[in-house]
Amino acid sequence: MKKDLQEVADIISNSKGMIAFTGAGISVESGIPPFRGPDGLWSKYDPKCLDLDYFHLNPVESWKAIKSIFYDFFGEASYNGAHKVLAQLEEKGLLKAVVTQNIDNLHQEAGSKTVYEFHGNSQKLVCLQCGKSYVPSEVNLNKLPPKCEHDKKILKPDFVFFGEGIPEAAYRKSLQAARDADVVLVIGTTGEVMPAAMIPTEAKRNGAVVIEINTEESNYTDGVTDYFLQGKASEILEKIYGMVK
Ligand code: NAD
Repeated sequence: MKKDLQEVADIISNSKGMIAFTGAGISVESGIPPFRGPDGLWSKYDPKCLDLDYFHLNPVESWKAIKSIFYDFFGEASYNGAHKVLAQLEEKGLLKAVVTQNIDNLHQEAGSKTVYEFHGNSQKLVCLQCGKSYVPSEVNLNKLPPKCEHDKKILKPDFVFFGEGIPEAAYRKSLQAARDADVVLVIGTTGEVMPAAMIPTEAKRNGAVVIEINTEESNYTDGVTDYFLQGKASEILEKIYGMVK
């Protein structure tokens, strides 16, 4: 396994169609914990609150957890150096797209323009009846569940619940971007959530160099990854950015 930072910076400088594939780890330094692990969100909340059937049957209970995790808590977070470097690489013309599993909107807040959200976005709520969408500030989250102002039906956050399909356009565009990529930066993901987890593998199958940045080894490290850079996403990416031509 290769680990040389300068070699990685040179590959990035010479790339023609690089993409980034990001997971919960890139937002850890923004104060948003991942789902898994000892400090993960599932150590405090029951994952069933994000199960689609449970949501329909128990909207108030589901919404209590959703509000606490995604609006009271995520709402306070702001982007970090890792999100920023990806936006700068795009501005330099080196990064074609970010494919993210995250739903926190931090890539866009950092300035990334082409972001394919595999699992949707928490910063949009949609009416399950008429499809009207709202931003969180337009909705009264003190009275749960929040309802559409038109037809009084329940609003659902526009991210993918357990038991729900991947948004078609994001799926198609992500897969195409993976197939077209010559380099893929895999940042802060265990690679356990399917079908998103196949993006780096699909890129590799089509000839891409896989550069992984993670504090721990992942499902990719042994077998898919060509360069493994161990450490915090912002520290590693900021160092690399300083070396990119
Ligand atoms: P995960 O929770 O399975 O794994 C997080 C990964 O990040 C781990 O491999 C961990 O070693 C690594 N990591 C932790 N801190 C890091 C740091 N500072 N720098 C680099 N890497 C670091 O996350 P996942 O693979 O993305 O899958 C979980 C699912 O949970 C995703 O589908 C996502 O939709 C969702 N999720 C999203 C958010 C968010 O939007 N911020 C937060 C939690 C979960």
